Amino acid sequence: MACELARHGVHFRIIDKKPERTLASNATWIQTRTLELFDQVGIIDSFIKAGHCCDAINLYADGKPLSKLSLKHIDSIYPFILMLPQSEIEKLLENYLHKLNYKVERSVELTDVKHDNETVTSTLKYPNGRTDIVNSRWLVACDGANSTVRQQCGFNFPGEDLKEQLIVADATINFSYMAKDEIHFFFDPGTVLAAFPLGKNRYRVAANLHLDHPRQHFYENEVIELVQERAYGKYYVTDVAWVSSFWIHGKIADHMQKGSIFLAGDAGHIHSPAGGQGMNTGIQDAYNLAWKLALVIKEKAKPSLLESYQIERYPIVKEVVAQNEHFTKLALFDNNFLSILQKFSQQLTHENGENLEKKFGNQLTQLDIHYKNSPIINYDHMPNLNLPGMRAPDVSIGEKTLYNFFNNIKHNILLFTGPNPTQEILDKIISIQKSLNKQFPDLIQSYVVHKDKLNTSTIVDTNFVIHEAYQIKTPAIFIIRPDTYIAYYSEDLSLESIEKFFLNYLC
Ligand SMILES: Cc1cc2nc3c(=O)[nH]c(=O)nc-3n(C[C@H](O)[C@H](O)[C@H](O)COP(=O)(O)OP(=O)(O)OC[C@H]3O[C@@H](n4cnc5c(N)ncnc54)[C@H](O)[C@@H]3O)c2cc1C
Repeated sequence: MACELARHGVHFRIIDKKPERTLASNATWIQTRTLELFDQVGIIDSFIKAGHCCDAINLYADGKPLSKLSLKHIDSIYPFILMLPQSEIEKLLENYLHKLNYKVERSVELTDVKHDNETVTSTLKYPNGRTDIVNSRWLVACDGANSTVRQQCGFNFPGEDLKEQLIVADATINFSYMAKDEIHFFFDPGTVLAAFPLGKNRYRVAANLHLDHPRQHFYENEVIELVQERAYGKYYVTDVAWVSSFWIHGKIADHMQKGSIFLAGDAGHIHSPAGGQGMNTGIQDAYNLAWKLALVIKEKAKPSLLESYQIERYPIVKEVVAQNEHFTKLALFDNNFLSILQKFSQQLTHENGENLEKKFGNQLTQLDIHYKNSPIINYDHMPNLNLPGMRAPDVSIGEKTLYNFFNNIKHNILLFTGPNPTQEILDKIISIQKSLNKQFPDLIQSYVVHKDKLNTSTIVDTNFVIHEAYQIKTPAIFIIRPDTYIAYYSEDLSLESIEKFFLNYLC
């Protein structure tokens, strides 16, 4: 959230009651959609360099291989999940924040918060005991599962706590039969062990425990034995760097916004870490909200734009929590789970297996998140109702990606000429581009997408790979939001229609 607000040039403060960045490795999966966002922001290289790419998920039952879910066919130029401990993820994000001249104010705790529709009044406590009252127009609560803001501002947080303790450990595995760039899940009736390679011989392992009484401490030997037993001898753990236990909760706040206050990340939703969704979902919250907040703060958009945060994110979050809960309960408590898994694995090897694999992969990696039913998505002149509200496809173009062209804080307009445009069409497109640039100089970046270079803001599409990714057969206009979702699509080359779309939320 802080990185995005800084990139959008908004003034803010970010505080954290902890004296230092987290050292826990909690989240390790960076989903593909998050990688795409990092690409757009321009920080992808540092993540790829630090992380470990995994491009398949293997499922085993009773120690025997059931199926392999490859991610190679998902709809992204990053067909993998990147493994990197959360401590490293936060370090890289903080480095980026420093480059933008912001720093996290540490050991500063928010102890009290009050709000009306116009102002938020927060009490901050400093390490020397001093307190301070801060008035702000907006407050984004990214203060985690036990959010002080959520509790004090009257948000409800209904849901369920599962009665199952799990452990998570970072281990060195010096010998294994298993592919090191793939994830492995071992299931037996009522038990699961997951092994996530972190690079070299480092692994994150996680398992449920089936204990009658909760325990505080776990020992290295127990982890070694548990991995040995549940993986049927396929891993030899030599060293356990860190072991911790956790419980699973499935909860969602009843609102993600109340007046000037927004909840993002674990403050608004928590669930089983089974599918590696939690941190990634929080990052998507921030990405959805930051550009809207920035436009409103700069008085370029109507405050009503902010209502779309709740409308767009709530159904997504609800679905993520429900699916995680469903899967976790099946895996841990349902006697039929192994036969369900077997059936799923058989479907993968059937005729349409590749489609199923792709569908599942797109869902897991958060590529299929869409805002189709949002009131700020335009539905006029829609020849293909599949596209508006969907994520804008990214495409490799030589050394670059299409998302590199969106590496700004604006709405990006793609003016596709189509494969064989007449001169009249080209003139019309150039004229629309000129008018838009004149009318919305700070808010849009426009590109003509054509097979040859027409002007300085042409994206040259010699082999029509971008045309193909955007399903272009005739000239068409796309507006891509700053969070790279398709906000507008029309084959009607009409300036008025675009103006009408922008007036929906811009001032
Ligand atoms: C074992 C485990 C494995 C996981 N694996 C994955 C995974 O692979 N992929 C994935 O996507 N997610 C995973 N998750 C979930 C992920 O860790 C969380 O979703 C993520 O950390 C949430 O980030 P957040 O910033 O919302 O909250 P947090 O990380 O909890 O950060 C909240 C911050 O707010 C600060 N704070 C709290 N109250 C105050 C206050 N009053 N004043 C000032 N500061 C305050 C805290 O000090 C903290 O730094 C996992 C979680 C666990 C426990």
